[in-house]
This record gives sequence, structure tokens and C-alpha cells, in this order.
Amino acid sequence: MHSTYFVALLTTLQCPLQCSHCLYDCSPHVTERMTIGQLKRYVDQIAAAGIRIINLSGGEPFLLGRDLDEIVDYATKKGLGVHLITAAHWATSKGAALDRLRRLADRGLKFLIVSCDDYHQEFVPLQSVKNAIEAAVELGICFHINVVFTSQSKITKKFLEDELGELLEGNRHYIPAKEWHAIMRGLAEQKGAPTLVQLVSKLTPVEQRNLGRLRTYEIHPEPACDRSGRCALGEDEVVPDFQVGHKTLNECNAFQFVLVRPDGSVKGCLGHIHAQTEPELHLGNLETEDLNTILDRAAGNPIMKCLEWGGPGVIAEYLMEMEPSLELKERYRLSCDLCSDLFTNPSIRPLFFKHAAGLYERLKGGHKEPRHQFIVEGINQSAPEPAIQY
Ligand code: SF4
Ligand code: SF4
Repeated sequence: MHSTYFVALLTTLQCPLQCSHCLYDCSPHVTERMTIGQLKRYVDQIAAAGIRIINLSGGEPFLLGRDLDEIVDYATKKGLGVHLITAAHWATSKGAALDRLRRLADRGLKFLIVSCDDYHQEFVPLQSVKNAIEAAVELGICFHINVVFTSQSKITKKFLEDELGELLEGNRHYIPAKEWHAIMRGLAEQKGAPTLVQLVSKLTPVEQRNLGRLRTYEIHPEPACDRSGRCALGEDEVVPDFQVGHKTLNECNAFQFVLVRPDGSVKGCLGHIHAQTEPELHLGNLETEDLNTILDRAAGNPIMKCLEWGGPGVIAEYLMEMEPSLELKERYRLSCDLCSDLFTNPSIRPLFFKHAAGLYERLKGGHKEPRHQFIVEGINQSAPEPAIQY
């Protein structure tokens, strides 16, 4: 039985931007995209596999035009929560943003993810991002802003909090996603519900109504990583890094989040650039097999399970225990950065593969806390968050 609950469809590799840190080499010149027929077939397979959330990603999914409206409508009617990621180049005015987003909200869109940082704003005015966020708030759409930063960045989480402060302070329905999850955890504890999904059935109609009015937002900073996509840090740019053993280096969405590329190939995570070409993380192709078959096969793969249950940090610590002379760096910027070393460093990869089965056996016996949580239907279309722990 697979544990995937989130599938990102890389709907198109075309993008009006050409960011230097892009994971997928997207640009205005690339034309590869999914057809509407493909999108519907993949949505059918995702729903049949019992998965609850899709992320329409790219490239820039707004370039799909009416096909985007159609697939949001189709997926919503199949019972999927639809997340949509964009750089907001289309939000040239508040009116334009409202017109475009209203068509999607009418078809069921509840969650918008906007990329905004120094890399993206080389191509898109910051005002377009603000137009998109203002329109989302007016339409009651939850939002999340991804901010890739270095020590030299002008656009940071704090900068965006200041820019959007007035808008958010003036709207009592929008609360930070963390606050929403704290409320839900408190209620779950009070009512003895072990998961958010079970909590829903224990809420009174008044609680459901009050929670249903809330909308979440998050401004999520992520350090730029110079082995990610085409990104190269300048000499004077630095970002935080973490010692092996720090829990940040265990953050990994392998298997719980999977990615489908425009050719139908299914990748085991949404992470770093090496994951796109790594054979162990290539799970199959939706053009030749159904998603359930692909995911059930991957559920028996020790490499995937070590990533899912432990994360790269746990793998690195185990390797250092088994192979004391192992040449790992002491510090890494992200779990995907460390993961890249595990998979691509010629002196580390063979040892990783040699010991994966042993680590798999060790992790299999341990307690596995589900790392993520489904959206809570009827209450919110919240971003995935860690499961309740108390
Ligand atoms: S990072 Fe996003 S916005 Fe930038 S080129 Fe890639 S897909 Fe387009
Ligand atoms: S740590 Fe590795 S497997 Fe996990 S999301 Fe990053 S690249 Fe993918």
C-alpha cells in the first residue's frame, strides 16, 4: 500500500520567465506540455489511487489558458483539492488578477502558491504578485508564497510580511497556516481525535462553520542552493547551512509527494535537480502503467523507504556509523543538497546503495509518524502540514 497523498503535475515546461535557479530548465522557448486529454487521464488515475491533492505546476500553468480552467473544474469534480503554483506574470492589474482568478475560484480552486523572490522579480514586477495576492484574498483563496533567498536578497520573508501586512491585518479571516494547525491540534487533543480527518466528524456544526470561515496563508523562505537547477551563488552570497545530525536535513517529501512530468514519467519526489535524472527515483510512466501499480511497486523499494521514513540526514548518520571513513561534508544547506551528495558523489553512492537494505530493516521496526496530513475536507484547503503530534 502506497503512502503518496500529493501529486504535482508538471503541466508545461514553458514559462515566460527564465529564472537562474529553475529546477526544470523552463523558459519561453520550451514547448513541452500536457494536453487536456493527458491531464484528464492523469487526474483520473490520481483519484483512482486514493490521492487527495494535486498541484498544477510548471513552467507556468497559467499558459495553459482555458485548459487550466477545464482541468481545475475536472479535478475538483473528482473530489481532489487543487493547488496551483504561479509566478503571477498575468496579474498585471488588480482587475486582471480578479478576472483570471475568479474563473478558477468558480471552478473550485482553493489554494494558490506564488513564487516571489529576487530571482523571479527579475522578470515580473512585485506589484503583479501583490495584485494576485489581493485578488486571492478577495476571493477567499488560501495562499502560500515561496521565497528563495540568499544573504544579499532584497525580497525576504520579512520584506513580504511588511508589504502584505496591511492587507492581512485588515482581513480577520486570514491566519498563518501554523496558527490554523495549532487551533486544529488543540481541538483534536480536546476531542480525542488522533488525526485531523477524524477530528472533522467530531466537530459541532458551529465549530465547522467558524473554522470554515478561516483561510490560511504562509510566507515560506527557502535558502538558495547552488546545486539546485541552474542556480549559482555569487561570491558574496551566503545562505544558512546545517550540520549533519540537524533535523532540517531529514526534511524529504520522497514518495509522499510525487511528480509527473509532461511525458508521463513519475518521479519519486519534488526535490532537487538530481532527483529528475536519478534512476532510483524514476518510478514509472503513466502512459504505460497506472499510478496505483507504479506506487505499489515503489513502496517495496528500500531506497525510497529510507528517504521517506528517515530522510537524507538519517541516511548520512547511518552511513557514518557503518563506514567511519566516509567523506561526507560536515554541513549542508538543505536536505536535498545532502541527498544530492548521497546519490551523485561517486565515493558515497555505492556505500549508500550497499547499506540501504540494512537501514531499511532498522527503520522498518521503528515508530513511523506520518509526516504529513490530508487536507480537511469541508473546513479548509490547507497546505500539507505535519501530522498531529501530542
Ligand atoms: S523557477 Fe518557476 S517561474 Fe522561474 S523559470 Fe522556472 S518555472 Fe518559470
Ligand atoms: S531529499 Fe532527495 S528524495 Fe527527498 S525531496 Fe530532496 S531530492 Fe527528493
